[in-house]
Amino acid sequence: MRDTEKHQGLRNQLVKLLQGKGITDNNVLEAIRKIPRHLFLDSGFEQYAYQDKAFPIGAGQTISQPYTVAFQSQLLEVKKDDKVLEIGTGSGYQTAVLCTMGAKVFSVERQKELFKTTSLLLPKLNIRPKVLTFGDGYKGLPNDAPFDSIIVTAGAPTIPKPLMAQLKIGGRLVIPVGEKEQIMTLLIRKNETQFEKHEFGEFRFVPLLEDKN
Ligand code: SAH
Repeated sequence: MRDTEKHQGLRNQLVKLLQGKGITDNNVLEAIRKIPRHLFLDSGFEQYAYQDKAFPIGAGQTISQPYTVAFQSQLLEVKKDDKVLEIGTGSGYQTAVLCTMGAKVFSVERQKELFKTTSLLLPKLNIRPKVLTFGDGYKGLPNDAPFDSIIVTAGAPTIPKPLMAQLKIGGRLVIPVGEKEQIMTLLIRKNETQFEKHEFGEFRFVPLLEDKN
């Protein structure tokens, strides 16, 4: 698959749609304008790639809908060279958005198949996260902590404590919390022990699964 002017045109329309839905962070909008989302999907979905929809990406998982990616990315308030931890690499689309926004991205995925496919895809698109790992994101990446921000792209029944611990003071954790449906939640770390909590609307994610072994 290639990236053509037609795809670029569809992306411009998608960016307008996201602006209409309240996304204002230009860094987010420009990343979405640049990234060929159709290359993150199976070729059968190419024609739908710039609709504001989620699609299956294999292993029972989904690529988040562009509005969700934009909403979470905007809440992170990414600044250049921020260290960002992403839990749930999936297709790598959100990873690519964060890298294009100038973040140093550390991303964790627990499905081997997706981890392998995405590890091969991103360099081909010249997207270079700092770290892509296979493992259980519930634990975060203690050896690379602390992070300026953390984004979880799967629905968590509760906020994993290790992720809170791996946030810098002043850092932002964006996580959808809930079982069937999730409330988008932003935690801002105020000091060693205190976090300020903000809640946004309802979203629907595949579940964040904990490895019991
Ligand atoms: N950002 C991705 C979202 C994929 S869906 C995209 O837009 O393509 C959520 C992803 O989280 C899935 O790939 C799922 O396998 C992964 N996931 C679920 N539980 C996890 C865990 N404990 N650690 C790491 N990844 C996890």
